[in-house]
Amino acid sequence: MPEFNKNLNRREMIKLMGWGVASIYLGGCTTVSQVQEIPPSAVLKSIAAEPAMSTFGPFDRTMGDIAPRRFSGDVPEKGHKILWNKKEFIAKQGGLPPPTENANLVVVGGGMSGLLSTYMSRNQNPILLEQGDRFGGNSRGESWQGIDYSLATAYFGVPPEGGQIDEFFKQIGIKGKYRVRKGADPIVVDGKTYDDVWSTGTVPESTAQFKFLNQHFTDVLNEANGQMYPEIPIKDEEKRKRTTALDKMTFKKYLEKLVKGKLHPHVEQVIDHYFWSAGASTYREISAAAGLNFFAGDFGEVAVAPGGNGFIAEATLASIMKDVPLQNLRPSSLVIDVRVVGQNVHVSYVDAQDKLKTIKAKSVIMSCPKFIAAVLIDDLESDRLRAIKSINYRGYLLANVLVNQPLKDSFYDLFFFDKNNPDNNVKESALKQRATDLVYGNYAKPDNSRTILTVFRGFPYEGARAGIYDPGAYEKYRGEFEDQIHSNILPMLNIPKSNVVDVRMARWGHPLPVPMAGNIASGKVELLRKPFKKRVFFVEQDNWTLPCFETAFSEASFWTPKVVDLVMNQKMS
Ligand SMILES: Cc1cc2nc3c(=O)[nH]c(=O)nc-3n(C[C@H](O)[C@H](O)[C@H](O)COP(=O)(O)OP(=O)(O)OC[C@H]3O[C@@H](n4cnc5c(N)ncnc54)[C@H](O)[C@@H]3O)c2cc1C
Repeated sequence: MPEFNKNLNRREMIKLMGWGVASIYLGGCTTVSQVQEIPPSAVLKSIAAEPAMSTFGPFDRTMGDIAPRRFSGDVPEKGHKILWNKKEFIAKQGGLPPPTENANLVVVGGGMSGLLSTYMSRNQNPILLEQGDRFGGNSRGESWQGIDYSLATAYFGVPPEGGQIDEFFKQIGIKGKYRVRKGADPIVVDGKTYDDVWSTGTVPESTAQFKFLNQHFTDVLNEANGQMYPEIPIKDEEKRKRTTALDKMTFKKYLEKLVKGKLHPHVEQVIDHYFWSAGASTYREISAAAGLNFFAGDFGEVAVAPGGNGFIAEATLASIMKDVPLQNLRPSSLVIDVRVVGQNVHVSYVDAQDKLKTIKAKSVIMSCPKFIAAVLIDDLESDRLRAIKSINYRGYLLANVLVNQPLKDSFYDLFFFDKNNPDNNVKESALKQRATDLVYGNYAKPDNSRTILTVFRGFPYEGARAGIYDPGAYEKYRGEFEDQIHSNILPMLNIPKSNVVDVRMARWGHPLPVPMAGNIASGKVELLRKPFKKRVFFVEQDNWTLPCFETAFSEASFWTPKVVDLVMNQKMS
């Protein structure tokens, strides 16, 4: 995308969101130790932070040159086995055991949202339960010969100086430790490379529309010429009405109204493929509010850390480990039941040794996806359950290609597609197109003899999850990736096939909630994120069905102070 006047971008809006309260909780952990009712063993402070980080941190750095032929990514087998037969499982165990441990706060789910919630409540010595064997959720990575790469998340918005995220990054020691992408990335349409499609167009018939929309997205980003940037989560009451109005229509409808007709097929494909990649969704279904939030936001600068956003997850975890006892950080701990009992909440989980245990807590933050929260909490309200059932979650595959040569440092994110793809049937088109783009995986850490390319393949339609979990899925999709890598991607980058050392795939069954038109306007998101029985809170990207780091940060900043207040003012009954 071209270089713009970058006063504001999607993430820079965060600065304006009025998060004064959060700063109290970001500000250190000096206040609360006197109200702890933590089990005695919790006084054991971290004695082996480094080995622990290598065992359960977001990066698996144990892979050799050639990885085992299996998917990385999510590992849902145990969860599926137990949670989809929860009643039977509990019955076989002789019922849920009584609590054997007390805690001020339990956080369920150790992805970015859970880590941020834990960090922001660290003065309460929270217990963090994560079903996977590593913390980080979708913000995890691996490593090849000392170069970290991402298994999913790639970048974030450059945090504005002095804003909440900037302050947080300072605290966890990562401020400025990322590379900023400025200016346009090329796009390849049907084998032809366009360096700045938004200024030049592709064919003469598309040029006027590309240029017109270029100006529009720039105006939205900068809130110029009467345009407004739709910030999500909505914090600014003045913007609520306009953002909600934008949420009622699809992004496609919005753009067609804007250009007073149909989009040129190339314009349509550039925009739609962006959403296939960014959210496994299409611009035909997502709201105009979410569409503008993401698309106009990406006309600004983006920040790329070594190994993607797992870098933030790792630094957050390292900071948590300075204050929270190591034994409170529990990977391989699958939560199976959360229930409010009197003034407290009982959280039952299957621990790393497959033992079923219960913790009695004053409060709980649910940082797992809502479709899982709905299984864990038996008595959720029926309207909330309906809202949860109506959220679409989409599947994703990506491949990291390890290459034994440097890359000409000329782009960060490279989209490529065949302009002849008929886009009327999204599933058919997506199956033909396969991956939509690749990022220069070690952009933040260029190397003079090695390169990692991260190739993205979202599934922008319902029902793909079953296919990617088929028994033969690994070989099938590896074959498809390799085919596209060898026949399209490597030639595009002038990389000989013989320089590819390994291809490593990550699989995600349902990592991305889709910001469908109407999710905000219908009141659904408010149903999703409101506290349950005053002591169970929800902090996850799906609170707003908007999958990005900023949603996780925003929701953790909004809810964690409320949880901490509650915990501080309540005695354990
Ligand atoms: C392919 C891909 C690319 C992406 N790229 C970007 C990007 O470039 N930039 C960006 O900002 N965002 C990106 N995202 C969005 C990303 O999901 C968010 O940025 C963020 O990482 C979400 O964090 P979360 O904690 O809300 O959710 P998750 O990461 O899904 O974390 C939820 C956690 O809950 C755990 N859990 C679930 N059930 C249980 C249970 N019963 N007991 C205990 N634990 C449980 C899970 O194991 C998981 O660790 C991408 C996502 C994907 C899939």
